[in-house]
Amino acid sequence: MTTKTHLLSLDYTALIHLCEQLDVSPVHVKKIMGKVFRYGEFDLENIPDFPKKLLFWLQENTSLALPEIIANQQAEDTTQKLLMRMADHKDVESVLIPAEGRMTQCISSQVGCAIGCEFCLTATAGLTRNLTTAEMMQQVLVAKQTLGYFPRNIVMMGMGEPLHNYEHVAQFVRMLTHELGMALSPRRVTISTAGLVPAIYRLLDDDLPCSLAVSLNATTNETRNQIMPINQKYPLEDLLAVMDKYVNARNKKRILIEYVLLAGINDSPDDAKRLRDIALSLGSTVNILPFNPFMGSRFTRPSDEVVDMFRNYLNDAGVVAVVRISKGRDISAACGQLKTEVNQRAADIRLQRRQTS
Ligand code: SAH
Repeated sequence: MTTKTHLLSLDYTALIHLCEQLDVSPVHVKKIMGKVFRYGEFDLENIPDFPKKLLFWLQENTSLALPEIIANQQAEDTTQKLLMRMADHKDVESVLIPAEGRMTQCISSQVGCAIGCEFCLTATAGLTRNLTTAEMMQQVLVAKQTLGYFPRNIVMMGMGEPLHNYEHVAQFVRMLTHELGMALSPRRVTISTAGLVPAIYRLLDDDLPCSLAVSLNATTNETRNQIMPINQKYPLEDLLAVMDKYVNARNKKRILIEYVLLAGINDSPDDAKRLRDIALSLGSTVNILPFNPFMGSRFTRPSDEVVDMFRNYLNDAGVVAVVRISKGRDISAACGQLKTEVNQRAADIRLQRRQTS
């Protein structure tokens, strides 16, 4: 395992600082960022008029390694799920979703997750560690190599709770939106959170250039406590208060509400009514995510009729609500499932070996 700094961890400020230290002009920062973050290329020796001193320093002190793709599953709808192995052999998933004329990449922010939502497969493994900024950027670079172009929409809806890894995620967001790099519009970079209230206040104070999605998933404390233990720490009234503050902030930010629909838990007409009131008061769009079942889970997906009724109720009441059927269901698109399948296969192979030896 290499201990070198990864080239992808060097943001604008770090590169400016490096140029100062090496006593070379800061104009080269633009060249590096253009090459690496705009074109996704690492061959710095081909940059015209690039000081040897800077090139040697980068070659000596930084790593350009990208994670190995250990599984790449393509669904019928061309959604691709990539399982990537990080330098310490921890595996993370990233999903490439073609939708609405552009490619969206779903990024993981942690190996595992500590939040413990009852309906989430990633939660069952607990948290192993945070991903670094470079490791999140590496997922984007691997996507670029796989697709031949950069995804232009990034959602942090993969494994992990992004706001639980605030510093690295904030740096990642700033790198994605930096004008000398990928220059993504802040509207096209979305942090999705289970509702870490203090971190949402921080997001607001820092004015991070990104959009926010909140996994609300329930409209009463009673139900939310049942399915999301985080609600005991940050109850609904506190979460709704910070969301209200966020949408009424000086620069008028919007919040997307995510709502995992679980049969018999949060899919009643009363749930739809309460969700309507919340969405209308925040001016939010709602993404309805019918539950993606996995082995050992106590929840079930509501019937298509119930899903439609729930959506129609919201739409009729003037709320923009969209049903997000997990893309690529034929390749088990629910978060964490690819990793589980690969691990299961590895366990089967070990078992077979043991039986035949
Ligand atoms: N921790 C962050 C981001 C990861 S989860 C968050 O909670 O928002 C991304 C989205 O997938 C969340 O809205 C979550 O509620 C949803 N989700 C998790 N498990 C799911 C499942 N089994 N079926 C459908 N949606 C699920």
